[in-house]
Amino acid sequence: MVIISSPSGAGKTTLTRKIISDMDDTVLSISVTTRKKRPNEEEGLHYYFINEDTFNQMVVDGNLLESANVFGYNYGTPRDRVLENIQAGKDVIFDIDWQGASQLRENFKENILSIFILPPSAGELMSRLIKRDQDSLDVIKKRLNSAYDEIKHWNEYDYIIINDDLEGSYNQLRSIIIAERMKISKTNSANIDLHVKVLMEELSGRL
Ligand code: ADP
Ligand code: 5GP
Repeated sequence: MVIISSPSGAGKTTLTRKIISDMDDTVLSISVTTRKKRPNEEEGLHYYFINEDTFNQMVVDGNLLESANVFGYNYGTPRDRVLENIQAGKDVIFDIDWQGASQLRENFKENILSIFILPPSAGELMSRLIKRDQDSLDVIKKRLNSAYDEIKHWNEYDYIIINDDLEGSYNQLRSIIIAERMKISKTNSANIDLHVKVLMEELSGRL
């Protein structure tokens, strides 16, 4: 489970979308949200847009792995698709806030890799939110105000990327995921075990 968080506008959607289009065996967890669809967003591609009643029912039924209220709207991660993808050996990428990250860490401990994206400066963050041109000025102000609360949690994460140059940041993110895949952990030690066993057998056959 690869969690990517940042203050709104720092670039996590841009980076996560590029990762899933370029890297094998990665899929994006598509969240549900009660916020309104932006003009460039598609149902099922960016989010599943649902109403409050449906969201509350999903919580009651235990269908969400985590959930949080962000900027006055509810967001949550549907459980089944994530678990199916993990069973299939995929790395699931989550674009979620610090509250969701903390819930997933509690429940899935050593299976979590978490990365925090920082903007190079406050001025650049504001100009990216304006450049994105998907939110009203009021909404942009609200998101800038909340940036402070999100940034406060940077040191709960495993890695930090300062997203100044996009290509450089993308390469850093990709490198982190590749390195993590090669780390000896509970999830990959069975495969390594098997490889070592075969290697040992081959070696003993040559002695
Ligand atoms: P977030 O998902 O964190 O809210 P986005 O990925 O939507 O942020 O990025 C906000 C805006 O900033 C978008 O218009 C995106 O194209 C732009 N952007 C992202 N990263 C960079 C970067 N390194 N340099 C310049 N613009 C960027
Ligand atoms: P946006 O409205 O800009 O798409 O997202 C606003 C914030 O909500 C971002 O910080 C994003 O990471 C977070 N978010 C999106 N989906 C989820 C989710 O399923 N759970 C949680 N906890 N946060 C989410």
